[in-house]
Amino acid sequence: MLPTDNGLPKGHKHAQKVLNGLGLGYEKIHACKNNCMLFYKEHETLDTCLICNEARFKMTSQNRTTNIPQKVMCYLPLKPRLQRLYMSTHTATDMRWHKEKWVDDDVMRHPADGEAWKEFDQTFPEFAADPRNVRLGLATDGFNPYEVLNQHHNTWPIFVFPYNLPPWKCMKKEYMMMTVLITEDPGRSIDVYLRPLVDELKDLWTNGVRTYDKLTGKMFTLRAAVMWTVNDFPAYAMVSGWSTKGYMACPVCKEDVTSGWHVGKVCYLGHQRWSSPDHEWREKDKEFDGNTERRLRPREWSGDEILEYLNRLDFAPFGKTVSRTRPSTHMNWTHKPMLFELPYWSKLKLRHNPDVMHVEKNVFDTLVGTILDIEGKTKDTIKARLDLERIGIRRGLWMNKDSDKARRDLAFFSMKPNDKKEFLKFVSSVKFPDGYASNIARCVNVDGGKFTGLKSHDYHVFMQRLLPVGIRHLLPEDVVKPIMLLSRFFFQLTAKTLLKTDILQLRHDIVQVLCKFEMIFPPGFFTSMMHVMVHLPEEALLAGPVNYRWIYPIERLLGELKKSVRNRAKPEGSIIEAWVQYESLTFCGILLPQWILDRAATTVEPRSFPAVTVEPAAAISSVFTESAPPSFSLLRRPNPTPEMSNLIRRRRAVTTTPSSEPPAQPTSAATAPALMDHLAVGPAGS
Ligand SMILES: [Zn+2]
Ligand SMILES: [Zn+2]
Repeated sequence: MLPTDNGLPKGHKHAQKVLNGLGLGYEKIHACKNNCMLFYKEHETLDTCLICNEARFKMTSQNRTTNIPQKVMCYLPLKPRLQRLYMSTHTATDMRWHKEKWVDDDVMRHPADGEAWKEFDQTFPEFAADPRNVRLGLATDGFNPYEVLNQHHNTWPIFVFPYNLPPWKCMKKEYMMMTVLITEDPGRSIDVYLRPLVDELKDLWTNGVRTYDKLTGKMFTLRAAVMWTVNDFPAYAMVSGWSTKGYMACPVCKEDVTSGWHVGKVCYLGHQRWSSPDHEWREKDKEFDGNTERRLRPREWSGDEILEYLNRLDFAPFGKTVSRTRPSTHMNWTHKPMLFELPYWSKLKLRHNPDVMHVEKNVFDTLVGTILDIEGKTKDTIKARLDLERIGIRRGLWMNKDSDKARRDLAFFSMKPNDKKEFLKFVSSVKFPDGYASNIARCVNVDGGKFTGLKSHDYHVFMQRLLPVGIRHLLPEDVVKPIMLLSRFFFQLTAKTLLKTDILQLRHDIVQVLCKFEMIFPPGFFTSMMHVMVHLPEEALLAGPVNYRWIYPIERLLGELKKSVRNRAKPEGSIIEAWVQYESLTFCGILLPQWILDRAATTVEPRSFPAVTVEPAAAISSVFTESAPPSFSLLRRPNPTPEMSNLIRRRRAVTTTPSSEPPAQPTSAATAPALMDHLAVGPAGS
């Protein structure tokens, strides 16, 4: 079918060899079976774990040691992945966006508009001086590659992504970098697996890496810093070292959170603390949980304070074999996060972000479960009514003891059966424009009176669009108003651009919503997710729009990774190979337009661009000349097309210093000209 002189690779191995030449590989590092330590650096030669004495390698049935490790993690070095961003003029220009195209006004459209970014620039002016230094976000989340086939397996990738890029390129899959792949849920031992990444980040901060910048045609020292992490609440606890369970679950309020034991679990109340000191609500004990509230909002800990406190504590080593009980002096601290080894980490204004997607989903579940009185989801249970009786508040909601048997009457904040049916019918009748939302109607069970199979984006649309319209005439006005305010809160908070004045308003609104909810719903309604909402506007002021700090892009990516599993016995092997190939192909995609430009320039006027011939993109041509698919035959034409000549002329007009000097000899194996060496041993050279 193809012409005989086509340059396609002969087979899968051949293609893989070509891609390996690009230098975007990965390392396998052996780990202890119980997550205590890595056999890495000074421990590379050990055969048993130093903490639990577990053997590093698997044993045969005859008790003989094999050379098959018990557990392996994959590490994808960060430096070559950052360097590739500067190998094309397009991406190199984009990486300067945050400084050169940034607009200083009241609108927040990028993390660079946040207070945290600005303060970082003031604290580290020498880092901020070069816009090419990379600011990273770090996200981690687990997924089950087996789905229903094995409920216990979890795969945990850790991603970093550059924030230097313009808003429309930030968080896009092409620029995501997987750095670590762990074969199970590591719990607090995630720090064991972060070791290689933190070591590389420390080196990237203190020494940097010599990198070739295609835009200027010169070498420069590339440095990088992690600005914050993005996690759901369980992963937040792993990365931040603060357990998000128990009486002190809020990682922002820490020991000063108002929590209490209601209906067999911890509930988080007392949101009057965020209102003004003389607000009337502070005295209304009967309307709230029976207590007056005089305290001001909880104090927030600075990074230095946290570090100083953690340095005074002793923590048990990592691993599954270690006891988890901790003394009361530790509060909720489970370990000292390894990220504090980064010299700048304690100076950051915002270190961790609870993911807004999960907050919105959980709040929706609690709220809708209660107002629709869905069995199993509602927080207005018999226990909750007895709890109200115990505290002696809201007599109208106590159990009805008129007959022999005590009854739970439907509360004023729940819909009557007919109203519930009307609401569900309304939801199932709504039609959305294509691509706006999934078909929510399929998730509604009108007769069963519940929802099934809602996806996280459905919650997002439901909360902001359907809920305020659907409940208007079905619930009392006092209940509808705060719910509408809550819908508006999420709508404004998750917008792509935020006005600073709007965020200040949101900060006020959410306190109103939570206080009004406290006066309506029983204490069991106030889960940790309900409370976390009170901190979201503050975080938006610090770090800009939520779009760059939520987990939607990561979840989408995890879904794609799940599909790449071919060998069910070793899912991580399939995932890592598929990812490395994707990264290499994206790299080629970024490099190819650049190469066409360079190639054309050398063919037409070689004397004007003498240096182009030694540049890395041109070096890659040797691979593509052999392995190029037929559509790339354009690349081999001796003379450029008229459009291309125009392009070259334009380029000459724009370029002020047409790469007059060849790049200096690099120090890293992955820097530009070293890439040529890689390629020389590939199929093109052989
Ligand atoms: Zn061990
Ligand atoms: Zn809090």
